[in-house]
Amino acid sequence: MLSSLSVSALASPLISRVVVSGGTHGNEYTGVYVVQRLGLQEQALRDAYPTLNIETLVANPLAHKDNRRFVHADLNRMFTVAELADISGFGYEPNRAKAIQAELGPKGPNAAADMIVDLHTTTANMGCTLIVDEWCPLAIHAAAYVASRWNTVRYIYLYLDLLKTRPDLDALQRQHVGPTAHKLCIAT
Ligand SMILES: [Zn+2]
Repeated sequence: MLSSLSVSALASPLISRVVVSGGTHGNEYTGVYVVQRLGLQEQALRDAYPTLNIETLVANPLAHKDNRRFVHADLNRMFTVAELADISGFGYEPNRAKAIQAELGPKGPNAAADMIVDLHTTTANMGCTLIVDEWCPLAIHAAAYVASRWNTVRYIYLYLDLLKTRPDLDALQRQHVGPTAHKLCIAT
């Protein structure tokens, strides 16, 4: 749990809308579970952190319903500037990416969402891993804070690609909880 001092530091006037997403890959159940649990605590979160608007998102609900990683294409590769601008893309995920961008974007400094935390699991033995953009001091600060308080975090990766070419959903941070077989939910 973040201390009130740290929350106030993170919740400057520039940071108010925080989105926690799961199910970007539909067969990764842990993120969906966390998102659903957070949704049940909406009022408690509002009371605890009144300057933050914490929202939840099941990013690929159709794939999750079908217990699949994706329906037509990997949603987590649909968020490059080029893909988002391509109106010829066929299938569920290209359209879903554009719908998510309409709600949370546009991609770049004027995005409606100040921070997105996208939760994934992996079968790779990565431990609990945080991935943040190397250009984002807030994300690095937040990851360092989480690592200092959660001693099972093994790695913090700096994502070096330019924002324009990044294909994944999260604008700031992605957290892996694993290894976890697909179609399973593990909560600790
Ligand atoms: Zn994933």
